[in-house]
Amino acid sequence: MSEELIAPCGMNCRICSGYLAFQHDVKSKGIRMPYCIGCRPRDKKCAFLKKRCALLLSGKVKYCYECSDYPCERLSHIDKRYRRYFRMSMIENLEFIKNNGINQFLEKEEKRWKCPECGAIICCHNGICFSCELEKLRNKKKLYRWED
Ligand SMILES: [Zn+2]
Repeated sequence: MSEELIAPCGMNCRICSGYLAFQHDVKSKGIRMPYCIGCRPRDKKCAFLKKRCALLLSGKVKYCYECSDYPCERLSHIDKRYRRYFRMSMIENLEFIKNNGINQFLEKEEKRWKCPECGAIICCHNGICFSCELEKLRNKKKLYRWED
């Protein structure tokens, strides 16, 4: 886990399917998925928030909780979706970072998303370990949903 991979919105890019697909180079293993190197490393307009937020665009806030509008409607919207489908919450992450610091957050995330089989990181978008469960990923009908 690394600080550079925690996005301003509180998303941990390390557990995102786009990052994991890139990290494990799943295309070379016959799985077609979009690659992403992480929100901050990419430094582009985040599909969800950055391109619509002047403060994020200009780099005036590092994390969304620094904003006077926090949690804004867009953040609340994506947070709701992630709570419902992807078993995590940006706002919960941001609150934890605000109260406990980034290092404790990174430690907690490491434990939370660790694959019990191989120790790699599990994807929050589908619950699959891109290291030891590639077959499951390859045969998955809905790539961006958990099975249970
Ligand atoms: Zn694994």
